[in-house]
Amino acid sequence: MGKPLTGDQAQTHRREQIRQGMHEIQQRIDAACALVGRDSSEVTTIVVTKTYPASDVSLLHELGVRDVGENRDQEASTKQAGLTDLALTWHCIGQVQTNKAKSIAAWADVVHSVDRPDLVKAFSRVASMRQAWLNHSQKLKVLIQVSLDADPDRGGCRRDQVLGLADAIAATQTLDLKGVMAVAPLGMDPKRAFADLQQISFDLAGQYPNAAWISAGMTGDFEAAITAGATHVRIGSAILGNRA
Ligand SMILES: *Cc1c(COP(=O)(O)O)cnc(C)c1O
Repeated sequence: MGKPLTGDQAQTHRREQIRQGMHEIQQRIDAACALVGRDSSEVTTIVVTKTYPASDVSLLHELGVRDVGENRDQEASTKQAGLTDLALTWHCIGQVQTNKAKSIAAWADVVHSVDRPDLVKAFSRVASMRQAWLNHSQKLKVLIQVSLDADPDRGGCRRDQVLGLADAIAATQTLDLKGVMAVAPLGMDPKRAFADLQQISFDLAGQYPNAAWISAGMTGDFEAAITAGATHVRIGSAILGNRA
């Protein structure tokens, strides 16, 4: 219908789409918090920008977003390199191959998917280089990804491995353990899955009080995650549209 949009009009249209998506999500987060007596300022929305272009990340930043999530090293690294002037926190939310740790540490501020000792080793080694590159002493923040159904294919350690990994992370000088992350298993009631994760988080925070973040919930299940104490929800399609 009508004339094709100019670049500027397309950008304005996209900004409006994203603004609307964010508004709707924030209302749903507020409602989910209200239901369980939580303050919505306790919940950080990480907008998952995987597959979407750097121009969307810029628009998100203009609209006030400060946390973005990516799951592929190469894509994220290219995007972040073009946007270093924006004050954004980049979250690595995907499964990590050990040999990618160095590359990931160059763009990620938080790694959600540490799930085995060799990754702790790899990230602790590269995190000291990162401090030198970035010329500051900030540690690399990490979360322990837990598998709630012990299916090794989908990433995450078993729940009985969490404290051991936490001890290994705490023993490094360069990693800052912030908490736990999980994806609700297919075919499992997300309420039950996230209640399990909340218990795992309580146990961890008993030992490591500064590791109380719970990264849980995506477009399809973030309300259940908020009910179970999620501090970080990872939302992609409800804000940016369905991925191809
Ligand atoms: C892609 C992805 C998300 C976002 O999923 P949506 O359903 O688009 O909100 C969240 N977490 C992880 C680990 C992902 O890979």
